[in-house]
Amino acid sequence: MQITKRFSWHCSHRLNFHEGLCYNLHGHTYKMDVTVSGNINMTGMVADFHWLKGIVEGLIVKNFDHACIFGKNLDEADKELFDWCIKFNQKTCVLPKDFTTAESMAEYFHRILSNVMPDDIKVESIKVWETDTAYAEEKNVD
Ligand SMILES: [Zn+2]
Repeated sequence: MQITKRFSWHCSHRLNFHEGLCYNLHGHTYKMDVTVSGNINMTGMVADFHWLKGIVEGLIVKNFDHACIFGKNLDEADKELFDWCIKFNQKTCVLPKDFTTAESMAEYFHRILSNVMPDDIKVESIKVWETDTAYAEEKNVD
């Protein structure tokens, strides 16, 4: 059985390699669908949605919401923006990936959530929606 819970948060970012509009600093209301699987337990659940909410909000949403996000591959503008954010006490979040693409976020979130799941629950899929019509999905490969 699989269950899915949706999360949402706001972020700003820019893609310094991009030759179009995404080069500019801009924002998204990201959505993320977290799908986990397992056997139905004695209370008729795979996992309590409230429990899943606590984990995802604590590990991801709390850090990313209303943050300016940076990858590891920074150009001069990113470096100045990062310094500006620190100077003016703006929330930042560093994604440990080269770039802050939806693909990178889906990969990273899949990894960190997989690491904290109990043995009987598996992260099947992480979908990171950058817009209402575009998402990246990292799926379990086992
Ligand atoms: Zn964007």
